[in-house]
Amino acid sequence: GGRSNPGGFLIQARSLPKQAAADRVRDFNEITLKPNAETGQKQASRCTDCGVPFCQNACPLQNNIPDWLALSADGDLREAWKTASLTSTMPEICGRICPQDRLCEGACTLQQSGWDGVTIGSVEAWIADKAFENGWVEPIRPLAERGQSVAIVGAGPAGLAAADRLRSAGYQVTVYDRHDRAGGLLMYGIPGFKLEKHVVQRRIDRLVEGGVRFVLNTSVGSDISMDQLRQQHDAVLLAMGVYQARHLSIPGCGPNDALPALDFLIAQNRRDLGDSVEATTASGKNVVVVGGGDTAMDCVRTAIRQGATKVTCLYRRDRANMPGSAREVQNAEEEGVIFEWLAAPRALISRGETVNAVRAQRMALTEAGASGRRDIAPVADSDFDTPADLVIEALGFEPENFAEQLDPSLDISRWNTVQVARGGFATSLPGVFAAGDAVRGASLVVWAVRDGQDAAAEIDRYLRARTEEAAA
Ligand code: FAD
Ligand code: SF4
Repeated sequence: GGRSNPGGFLIQARSLPKQAAADRVRDFNEITLKPNAETGQKQASRCTDCGVPFCQNACPLQNNIPDWLALSADGDLREAWKTASLTSTMPEICGRICPQDRLCEGACTLQQSGWDGVTIGSVEAWIADKAFENGWVEPIRPLAERGQSVAIVGAGPAGLAAADRLRSAGYQVTVYDRHDRAGGLLMYGIPGFKLEKHVVQRRIDRLVEGGVRFVLNTSVGSDISMDQLRQQHDAVLLAMGVYQARHLSIPGCGPNDALPALDFLIAQNRRDLGDSVEATTASGKNVVVVGGGDTAMDCVRTAIRQGATKVTCLYRRDRANMPGSAREVQNAEEEGVIFEWLAAPRALISRGETVNAVRAQRMALTEAGASGRRDIAPVADSDFDTPADLVIEALGFEPENFAEQLDPSLDISRWNTVQVARGGFATSLPGVFAAGDAVRGASLVVWAVRDGQDAAAEIDRYLRARTEEAAA
């Protein structure tokens, strides 16, 4: 496509409108306002086609961003969609929830030169949404059936991306998941205000229509064994994610005194999906969330929407050193969340049987040591109490014991993730591959998608080689 508007960034400022905080906290819908034909084209036209695609290099999928921005700027959304869908099996999902400030948009030449980066994620989601609305999303129709079958353990983004590519290549694909719905953290972890559930469901529907089989409510390792899977399928992909939550271990915190973040988030996602759920809500409560990652940000914002009286986030380090996305902290602040930076929980305080406050100690940044990195140290006599009727722990996730769960001869890394061969996806078990968070540890959706797609390509090579061996 031609570049219809060279220097568009001089005429057009970056604009990424979202609903006003006072309105958006009343429901669980996405907060970003979708571009229309005019605003979408204008934002896409800000790309200067700088010639060095830093954005593409910073995208884990190496998306061909300059090309689909130029096509979108010209109004050729169908071609833009075709280009975007070559490298990504879920552009409308990554466009919504990638931390773009740390990936494509952070690397954009305009951003780097003080002009504010192109709204790459928003344009990506826009063209993919248009493709679904206009029926441009092709159904999966393999050119030829290949006969061999692949089992995928886990229906999160890694498993779904692999299922898409493997089924398109003609394999019989069965995805097993212990949940009652597919989608993994896309469905049950990430809240609707970042990613509405129908967006995830239509991807799953497309896979089902294309012939992918989903076996839900089935835990591999207990409901069905790895041996059974390996007998019934020609290859297996492990994409289980990481789910063992770290817990608060401080005086006064009994086993039921702090609510695990994922229990809280899953309950709300189920309500959004229309299930009747009786779990604890934040309504009318003083809520304290402990942690500083994506999960903590999702919890504080969910608590606000459930009608909490006051929501406080306690984090040991300062704002600059938190692992969560800066964009999400800003959203949370706009919605009324109070951040206590440099505050380390020391104890839960109870009145009678119930917790009613979190005691925390102030931390301070230390002088830079030999490593050049500033650490934190407690400040003497600095304890303070924050009233709390509900304490939510969002301290991160570790892998489960995969060897014990699945097969004792599955090699595990020293981080307890599944060990894979260098530069690939093969595990220590022949014909068994692994991808996503189960290999990387807690990471990002876009990396899970990348892994799923690449693992599918490796499984395809493996199965083709097996077919040739058998024929020889
Ligand atoms: P998962 O999505 O975890 O899927 C694994 C699936 O395997 C699950 O459905 C699980 O039920 C199933 N499973 C596990 N064990 C078994 C078994 N034995 N048998 C059968 N099924 C099994 N990333 C972003 O990029 N942007 C965000 O905004 C973002 N927000 C997040 C918010 C929260 C609350 C959390 C927890 C994570 C967030 N992440 C975000 C990270 C992202 O969700 C993960 O990196 C990504 O989902 C990993 O994909 P996966 O396919 O490897 O695993
Ligand atoms: Fe940016 Fe993520 Fe889309 Fe890549 S997948 S272009 S990093 S939003």
